[in-house]
Amino acid sequence: MPELQQPEFLPTTRAEMDALGWDELDVLLVSGDAYVDSHSFAAALLGRWLVAHGYRAGIIAQPAWEDTADVLRMGRPRLFAAVSPGALDSMLAHYTAFRKKRGEDAYSPGGKTGLRPNRAGLVYTGLLRRAFPGLPVAIGGIEASLRRASHYDFWSDSLRRSILLDSKADILLYGMGEKSILDLADLLGGAAARQRPMDAIAHARLRGSVYAVHPDAIPGDAEELPSHEAILDDAGLLMKATLAFERQMLLEDPCLVQRSAGRAVVFEPPAALLSEKEMDAVYALPFTRRAHPSYAEEIPAVAMIEGSVTSHRGCGGGCSFCALAIHQGRRVQSRSEGSILREVEALARRPEWKGSLTDIGGPSANMWQAACDVAAKNCKRASCLFPKRCRHFHAPQEKLAALLRRAAALPGVKHLRVASGVRHDLAVESAEYMRALVGEFTGGQLKIAPEHINGKTLRLMRKTPLALWNHFLREFNRLSGECGKEQYVVPYLMSAFPGCTDADMEELAAWLKVRGWRPQQVQCFIPSPGTVATAMFYAKQDEEGLPIHVARTDGERLFQHRILVPDAEPSPRREEDPRAERGGRKPFGAKKPFRKPLAGKKEFRKPFESKKEFDKPFGAKKEFRKPSGAKKEFTKPFGEKKEFAKPFSEKKGFKKPFGAKKEFTKPFGEKKEFAKPFGAKKEFTKPFAAKKDSAKPFSGRKPSGAKKSFAPGKSSGAARPAGGRPRFAKAKGGGKGGGKP
Ligand code: SF4
Repeated sequence: MPELQQPEFLPTTRAEMDALGWDELDVLLVSGDAYVDSHSFAAALLGRWLVAHGYRAGIIAQPAWEDTADVLRMGRPRLFAAVSPGALDSMLAHYTAFRKKRGEDAYSPGGKTGLRPNRAGLVYTGLLRRAFPGLPVAIGGIEASLRRASHYDFWSDSLRRSILLDSKADILLYGMGEKSILDLADLLGGAAARQRPMDAIAHARLRGSVYAVHPDAIPGDAEELPSHEAILDDAGLLMKATLAFERQMLLEDPCLVQRSAGRAVVFEPPAALLSEKEMDAVYALPFTRRAHPSYAEEIPAVAMIEGSVTSHRGCGGGCSFCALAIHQGRRVQSRSEGSILREVEALARRPEWKGSLTDIGGPSANMWQAACDVAAKNCKRASCLFPKRCRHFHAPQEKLAALLRRAAALPGVKHLRVASGVRHDLAVESAEYMRALVGEFTGGQLKIAPEHINGKTLRLMRKTPLALWNHFLREFNRLSGECGKEQYVVPYLMSAFPGCTDADMEELAAWLKVRGWRPQQVQCFIPSPGTVATAMFYAKQDEEGLPIHVARTDGERLFQHRILVPDAEPSPRREEDPRAERGGRKPFGAKKPFRKPLAGKKEFRKPFESKKEFDKPFGAKKEFRKPSGAKKEFTKPFGEKKEFAKPFSEKKGFKKPFGAKKEFTKPFGEKKEFAKPFGAKKEFTKPFAAKKDSAKPFSGRKPSGAKKSFAPGKSSGAARPAGGRPRFAKAKGGGKGGGKP
């Protein structure tokens, strides 16, 4: 393709296209995030990458989804449209761990919520289908990556099939996407492919892609996974499928295939890793790092990434709850030192630069240039660090310390902090890195994610043992003391992880209390689609298929969470619970978006899936638990209850429950003696008062006194999760987060 000049911003309107002299786009990118011209935003990154390779790409960010007007505004693209639902799964972006609506969306102007729909991938794909009939549509981003096969969806509490089938996209691109989107553009740019794009996609077998074929056309080298229907019948098979995907991300095994509803979904091996040179080229693209000028309000994420530099992708940790394992993978791809330093210099030249470099890191702070020295096919492990560091895993900590020092010494950089999560188990292996981290790059508080201290829970998380964490804390405190700095570790902890019991949480609470730590960063486990931990949550089994305890209901999860956070948020109100989608209720406030869009309609139309949800074992639970309306209708009609359960005298009492009980169940004197010992005492000690009471016909006259005497006992029992928790002492030294052990 001929070279194209990179515009200041990629076009978002027809007028902007005209200004660039572009009569049509080659690729239209639709994003669930606002358009911020930064490598942290997928649409901007892939758009600029396409332009760098000669394709004219435009962005429509957060389009209205009631009708097609927004996505039509730049016209029909020549090759294809691609959907990226956003930097987060749209359901995760909208709801908390307890399914409450979040109050802010950091990727939207003004932090406003509701600018993208729930299940944005489905809705935007449906929108593009209607706007451009016959145009190939690709779906990508983390939402599509995680949902590329059968997956448990926490927000509807159901097993959903591949998002490719639900969205009716032609192709799904998983992973970071630079290579696969370019391959797709090259493929669809060919004349033959433009005639029969679906055939071309199936024949091309692009790496990093997922597509659906007739079962007769399954590639001969494909390894067959349990079908969607088989997983519905046997929850344990979800673990088998999830582990196969995790393995495919690392080992680039031959393609996988999963049958579902008469189709076969083919998962080609992941795209080849970017070389250091390619990584440098991606990050050398001329991002302005600003929001598109059309936005009148600030986008919170812009401030978050302002002074932050990405050094690498991927993480060798392989934590079982981490979505990165099946999105970026375990192999680390790093930029060169020169590329990172050039970006820091460019940042320091910006007029708005204030001198603070807030981070140089990636998914973890200290895996820059980590590498494995054996061929991937020879690896049998699920993590490069758990249960202990693999001898083939090399993450040069001293080199990283030197890089940080060089960046901090550049003109215009007043200070540099490490904000990404540090792998403490890796850090303690290098005295030099620890000295640099603690003495030079910690700004009072350091985020570390031990997640738990209980051995069994740590094993299920694939986290290294408590001994290493304790070792790190000792070193951190010793080095802080040597530097004369008062600084603290902020531990990130997790509650309600599959396999973690209430007693395990109590063990963690006691451990923190002994140290005078008041935990601030406690995340209740959210079963993100596609992870190994989510398969555990769904199947109530560990990786080996052995049964484990799972805090499954919101009540059980909240109970565990409140062991560390007594004032944790309550369960959602009915109208904001996303599970209400299954009942056809609008989940996110907006009436139109969820009734009208094609994908939205599909969700309501799917009796097949709904049936499955209620057919399967834990779905059956929901039948007893969820259709509360049904319960009311069939088990206790209001009138019936009154008529059959209560005699005439109680009917009367129904009007005045409190007084009625007193009047009809027990004579006045008896009541005081037997039912209310406390009141009875009063009777014996104050006969005069008793006389006064008995003289009055309104025995319910004492409700307030009675309530007072009974309420404390009642509430202490019912509110045990909140009231019964130990409230931890303030951190030593008045630190906000953690403290010294
Ligand atoms: S061999 Fe070791 S370092 Fe290499 S990928 Fe496997 S676990 Fe990681």
